[in-house]
Amino acid sequence: MTHISSDLHDLTVAQLSHLLQKRKVSAVECAEHFLARTQKHANLGAFLHTQEEHTLAQARAADARLASGSAGVLDGVPIAHKDIFVTRDFVSTAGSKILQGYQSPFDATVVAKLAQAGMVCLGKLNCDEFAMGSANENSAYGPARNPWNTDCTPGGSSGGSAAAVAARLSPCATGTDTGGSIRQPAAFCGVTGIKPTYGRASRYGMVAFASSLDQAGPLARSAEDCGLLLSAMCGPDPERDSTSLDVPAEDFTQHLNDGIAGLRIGLPSEFFGAGLAPDVRAAIDAALKEFEALGVKLVPISLPLTELSIPVYYIIAPAEASSNLSRFDGVKFGFRANEYTDLSDMYQKTRAQGFGAEVKRRIMIGTYVLSHGYYDAYYLQAQKIRRMIANDFQAAFKVCDVIAGPVAPTVAWNLGGHANDPLADYLADIFTLPASLAGLPGMSVPVGLGANHLPVGLQLIGNYLSEARLLNVAHRFQQATDWHAAKPQGV
Ligand code: GLN
Repeated sequence: MTHISSDLHDLTVAQLSHLLQKRKVSAVECAEHFLARTQKHANLGAFLHTQEEHTLAQARAADARLASGSAGVLDGVPIAHKDIFVTRDFVSTAGSKILQGYQSPFDATVVAKLAQAGMVCLGKLNCDEFAMGSANENSAYGPARNPWNTDCTPGGSSGGSAAAVAARLSPCATGTDTGGSIRQPAAFCGVTGIKPTYGRASRYGMVAFASSLDQAGPLARSAEDCGLLLSAMCGPDPERDSTSLDVPAEDFTQHLNDGIAGLRIGLPSEFFGAGLAPDVRAAIDAALKEFEALGVKLVPISLPLTELSIPVYYIIAPAEASSNLSRFDGVKFGFRANEYTDLSDMYQKTRAQGFGAEVKRRIMIGTYVLSHGYYDAYYLQAQKIRRMIANDFQAAFKVCDVIAGPVAPTVAWNLGGHANDPLADYLADIFTLPASLAGLPGMSVPVGLGANHLPVGLQLIGNYLSEARLLNVAHRFQQATDWHAAKPQGV
């Protein structure tokens, strides 16, 4: 086998795949190279669990397929999974103490599909506890750090995923997005990420946060890579996820190079208001100019209920979470309190000690808004506005093909910057929540550096099942620019 170059980690999924197929590098060499990097950059807190023996066994199996000529395009390419996906061969904690040491008897569908495609799992990635957060600081295992500036948050909740990809500890990662958790960390770390249409990827084996919103997707360094991964992740799973869409798996790389001249990109005025930091705005404006140079037409649109997406989401998501999290009681899964008097005391102590502050806050809010007398006033109202938000998008898609705007109002903030102020975190979700509530696909594309040399992400939102279009728009941009190739110093 030809000797591997020391900068294997700078290659994209597509490039690695090419080398693997040509047998210029082996899957075992790849796996060893990236595993060594996870150790070298352990200070980033990106990985929670590794299991070298398992990773190398997967790599050896991939090499055997590659040698026999029966390998698929992702065979031998390393990946790491957000710790919200359950895995048979790695501990799964969802970033929570209550799942400390939990070993799942099965793999999440998305994990299984990527393994079937031949990918080699490097380990499990840090995230906010039960994916609740915007800074990865709600992880019971300490925060992940932003490779662009280790004093800053990588974003959340898929903070470990974004940090690992940006720092080249893995060429790609899975994430989940309930209200922005793929797009926002991708933006903060300067990587590319896509949340598909709700129902595209199976939720089976994703530890549930808010089931009507949770959706899996990839983070990688280019739209092309995201397309390769998403093609392997999606597809119906009727037996195991009743909300999975009855839409066949698709090859999302097929339309990457389609022309985009004449495409109408809608700019919601609500996404460009006073709350948007000037440095983020400047990078977004420059990207929009680039799109105009590519022949795209920019059209003003309005998503009038944007502001309401925050209260609506922070009623619906906690409501669903309070129900989903009732299963963690110390009986079946993970952690159980050491000392207790009777069953009810065991439940209470386990939950009191096992859940972190943000999770408890949401369980209380969720229980409150679902309770008799408040259900109509809060939960039901929120559901009605959710529908109106979805309708507003449909009105917008009558005059544009794709919607663009910022992912977040600012670049990454300092770790601890929102300490004791959960509302500050909630407010920063304003631009990602609308697409989540509507179940629409959304993606983040790196488009520049803002304040303190930190990355800025452009959000692209498409109509239902238009992932191929979003990836196409992002890919054309990435062919014309090189922001997606920008690399943090010291990695
Ligand atoms: N920041 C949002 C929250 O805390 C979104 C999280 C997510 O998408 N998982 O709920």
